[in-house]
Amino acid sequence: MLARASQPRHIINLMERDQLLDLAKPHYTHQQLGLLRAAVELAETKHAGQSRLSGEDYVTHPLSVAAILIEWKMDIDSILAAVLHDTLEDTDLNLLDIEDQFGQPVAFLVDGVTQVSRARSGMGDLSSYLPQTKDNLSKFLIALSRDLRVLIIKLADRLHNLRTIEHLPPERRRKVAQESLAVFAPLADRLGMSWVKLEMEEISFKVLYPKDYQHLTSLLKKRVGRAQKYLSHVRREVAAALGEQDIRFDIDGRIKSVYSLFKKLKKRPVEEIYDLMAIRIIVGNKDDCYRVLGILHAMYQPMLRKIKDYISVPKPNGYQSLHTTVITPGEQIVEFQIRTSQMHDYAERGLAASFHYNEQKLSAGYLASRTAELPRNLLWILEMQETAQRLIGGESGDNVLQLDLFSDRIFVYSPKGDIYDLPEGSTVLDFAYAVHSDVGHHAHGARINGKIAKLSAALGNGDVVEVLTRASISPNSDWLKHVKTAKARQKIRAYLNQSED
Ligand code: MN
Repeated sequence: MLARASQPRHIINLMERDQLLDLAKPHYTHQQLGLLRAAVELAETKHAGQSRLSGEDYVTHPLSVAAILIEWKMDIDSILAAVLHDTLEDTDLNLLDIEDQFGQPVAFLVDGVTQVSRARSGMGDLSSYLPQTKDNLSKFLIALSRDLRVLIIKLADRLHNLRTIEHLPPERRRKVAQESLAVFAPLADRLGMSWVKLEMEEISFKVLYPKDYQHLTSLLKKRVGRAQKYLSHVRREVAAALGEQDIRFDIDGRIKSVYSLFKKLKKRPVEEIYDLMAIRIIVGNKDDCYRVLGILHAMYQPMLRKIKDYISVPKPNGYQSLHTTVITPGEQIVEFQIRTSQMHDYAERGLAASFHYNEQKLSAGYLASRTAELPRNLLWILEMQETAQRLIGGESGDNVLQLDLFSDRIFVYSPKGDIYDLPEGSTVLDFAYAVHSDVGHHAHGARINGKIAKLSAALGNGDVVEVLTRASISPNSDWLKHVKTAKARQKIRAYLNQSED
């Protein structure tokens, strides 16, 4: 058997100094641990006398955030920054003090996290912040674009605040939950940090819709209760079959999240929702993933449209796995997810997996220097950066850029299988410009999933789009009506301006 698949252990919400140092000890060098001790002492001194609404010493919060980041196996600079993340806002410590004692990269991260927090508290009502607070959002984006670790620290900060949300007064509780559902959970998802996303959704859902939460939890319990016994039978059966084939594996079953059920119920009645139970099989290498899939399909009847190969074609956030949903002889429907331990680690930690413990080469200019090392499926981050830079540079007078960043996204494929990430409502023309400006300029139509479509046709998630071009075609001002993305709009305008001269 492989080492047990890592589950998000729900670590202590009330970290104290010694617990934190114990947790850190196996993962960092002697010198790094010395810095950590110094940071903890500084935070304790500076936050002395401050308390949280729960009545605990305030410093338990930054220490707990640091503990979460150690669990995520983050590098030492992120841990130090987490310990100090609220000192600029809430104490008399300043940036230079931090830089003197812990170095420029740590100061940079603390500053970034502080800016994100300030931007956030200025956002006000979420439904209106997008068009109205460009400045605050820009700060958010500066932080976002200059070092992704700022976002990861911010996610840990938010996660700890959610885990301790019961201490907030009801009105603030709702606000924090709403914002988490609208901004932070999607962000975690975009960064491939799936269990952070799940936990944020779960807690926020419970706060915002307590009745639905209760109802669905009991509904799940009932349905799952019936299936549970059978499921463990299936698990044993599968484990025996894999054991015979001499495959090393780890297997566990789980119930899907209440919030995902809630979202599904908006689209389908509960009788039609069968993928409530999933069995996860973790194996040693990619070949074994496909072997396991073959074995499962020989044992059970697969549901044809439910076979998904995210190993060959990963999801846009980098997720890799094989999925198949089968009907067992007992008429039970079970989803299997099969992946290697490496894929599993990435599926859970996402971008955080790029900042492993002691990566010395990481610095404030992370993305600029390590572009080539980002997983191919996270290259959209570069696009976001460009967008942020254009925003900050004031190149765009409208709010389209901001909407690009925060609207719902769809993922569209080229015939070769390249993934493009576009805002919802994007058209063939947006896609053409996303591929290349020359493709955009000469586009005259497309095949969407094999069917001929106009330039103005809206794309859906998962569409395969082949742009048809013709040399004699060129942009005209009507095209501006058919695009949603800032990029396409900008390219078309540039072309039109140029041809006027
Ligand atoms: Mn905080």
